[in-house]
Amino acid sequence: MSKRPLHIDFYRHVAQTSDNPLGIAIQNADGIYLHAEDKTYIDCISGISVSALGHSHPSIVAAIQQQLNKHLHLMVYGELIQDQQVALATALATMLPESLQSVYFVNSGSEAIEGTMKLAKRYTKRSKFVAQKLAYHGSTQGALSLMSDAYFSQAFAPLLPGIDFIEQNQIDQIETLITKETAAVFIEPVMGEKGYVPCSKAYLYALRKRCNETGTLLVFDEIQTAYGRTGEWFAFQSYGVVPDVLVLAKSFGGGLPLGAFIASTEIMDCLKDHPVLGHITTFGGHPLSCAAALAAIKVLQTEPHIEQVNAKSNLFRDLLQHPKIISIDGMGLMLSLQFEQAQFCRKVIDQCVQNGLLIDWFLYAEDKIRLAPPLIVSIEQIHEIAHTILKSIEECQ
Ligand code: PMP
Repeated sequence: MSKRPLHIDFYRHVAQTSDNPLGIAIQNADGIYLHAEDKTYIDCISGISVSALGHSHPSIVAAIQQQLNKHLHLMVYGELIQDQQVALATALATMLPESLQSVYFVNSGSEAIEGTMKLAKRYTKRSKFVAQKLAYHGSTQGALSLMSDAYFSQAFAPLLPGIDFIEQNQIDQIETLITKETAAVFIEPVMGEKGYVPCSKAYLYALRKRCNETGTLLVFDEIQTAYGRTGEWFAFQSYGVVPDVLVLAKSFGGGLPLGAFIASTEIMDCLKDHPVLGHITTFGGHPLSCAAALAAIKVLQTEPHIEQVNAKSNLFRDLLQHPKIISIDGMGLMLSLQFEQAQFCRKVIDQCVQNGLLIDWFLYAEDKIRLAPPLIVSIEQIHEIAHTILKSIEECQ
């Protein structure tokens, strides 16, 4: 066996997504901790909102092991009755309103957005979409078409035609942009890559009203917000606005790959005929992922992590006081710290990593730091995280 250090093969053979990956070799992970050979890191981004219950949660690991003993993949999604899929869809349906009772399982967030775009086209017989400026909905070509930022999307042109972009929280743009030709409007209730900027309640209400008037589907991309991050299971509950399609991924699979788009049975039935198999996936709703997802739901139903989110959020906000931090934005345990200069912000991020705290940046908000710790983070750990951030800021001055 080759004795070459792992990182050489990493750079040589694992396709790179940027010129400067963190490049830290993690050996194992538990709770909020990532263990490298010579150092332990606190994970304050949760693989970007994935590991809500931390790493290697015993209930999730046990559920996966139990399913391993029964079966792995059986047949393309939707053909055979698989108990973990049915139990998970039923558990979701029990938590969701009457208009969100049919769950289509996929493998990732981008795939869930693609499926939703196709569903909206079939249901409304329209092809135009509206998305928010500076939204992020995924890397596939349909999802990429919903991104307004030319730097990220234009290199892959031509993308889908007929997409209009609305400025977040600009109620006055709603009537002109959303018309009877619009199939669906895609909304991140708390915009992720823009720097954790929450939508206003009035804006989401106005969107709901306009979509009702025009017969447009209102889609909430809750890939980062669900579940629990905003202090409710789903962000739409924090706002009291029910979407026509709810999109999930990231923490949904409890650490395994899983996504879903959820709508009414009437809407979802459009995918089953004319053409038959209107949307199919081989691995969507994989039994291991569904078992992990169900275990995660059970933990969140029995332990008080979601109800503690807002108190933990407030503690972060109280502790993170520093003249260099000019604002704290976000909702629940998706928080952003804004600095005057992007360059300084980047230095602080690097310094935090040096100090054993993994935090991150945003695609469209270079002056902000992203904080999205596992929901299980303890009060003591929040003090430790805040202390490390403040210390790192001091060290960068
Ligand atoms: N929507 C949002 C809001 C996201 O944050 C992401 C992932 N960062 C996606 C969609 C795409 O999900 P995936 O990477 O699983 O395809």
